[in-house]
Amino acid sequence: MSELELIASWLRSGPRSIGFTGAGISTESGIPDYRSPGGVWTRYDPREFTYQRYIADPEVRKLSWQIRTEVVGLNPKPNAGHKALAALEASGHLDAVITQNIDGLHADAGSTVLEIHGTMRDVVCITCSFTCTMLDALARVEAGEADPDCPDCGGILKSATISFGQPLDQEVVHQARQLASDCSLLLVVGSSLVVHPAAGLPRVAKRAGAKVAIINREPTAADHLADAVIHAEAGETLAALVEAVDSNQP
Ligand code: NAD
Repeated sequence: MSELELIASWLRSGPRSIGFTGAGISTESGIPDYRSPGGVWTRYDPREFTYQRYIADPEVRKLSWQIRTEVVGLNPKPNAGHKALAALEASGHLDAVITQNIDGLHADAGSTVLEIHGTMRDVVCITCSFTCTMLDALARVEAGEADPDCPDCGGILKSATISFGQPLDQEVVHQARQLASDCSLLLVVGSSLVVHPAAGLPRVAKRAGAKVAIINREPTAADHLADAVIHAEAGETLAALVEAVDSNQP
């Protein structure tokens, strides 16, 4: 049996399969991961955009708003990979998706999603409870405010994402670990599996007795503990997986 058919058989038998995705599932929507040639992150070092520098330096904030403008301007849409995971959920073969991505594309495709690094669709004030959409904040940037401040308290506005150096929401991390430890299959797509604590989820699932399957263009840090590994493009592989699940329905 091929690795694809194996994963399809685990999805069919269930009872609880969970997707776990990283930046690689969105590259086919035009959003570069940290390694893609020519992408925004080859021009800027993402590690320089720490939470601490964002708070301390208006120049870092101005550049961050410019990068957000650039990514939103790509007008990304869910690709075959996002749609395949949503289709697997619609047909009752996948319960939810945990994602490291901040782009909102899983929700657009129709998946139930847990975003462990937050979302760039929203903006929050770091001082008070003000929130608004990213589009509203970027409209202010476009109108000439290079570093828009909070209209309620004058505080610093920031996308509702977890930056380097910023603590994760422990409740969300707990939910992710819970989903991973309660599932029968963790289907990992498009992650190098080096960023913690998300990188630990395959081990959590494995220890709890689940199968772990990995679909990624290149080897990952957790290939050695996976039950099935496919090194290929996410979109076409997931679309083929949906077909394989459907074609063997009783
Ligand atoms: P990563 O950049 O470390 O790894 C992405 C992996 O996906 C790589 O191993 C790459 O080979 C693979 N890949 C790229 N395109 C692929 C494709 N079409 N098909 C199959 N595999 C493909 O990303 P990560 O593991 O998610 O971790 C880095 C951090 O980057 C995360 O915290 C995430 O929040 C952040 N990030 C998110 C986005 C987004 O929201 N779309 C984009 C860039 C970075």
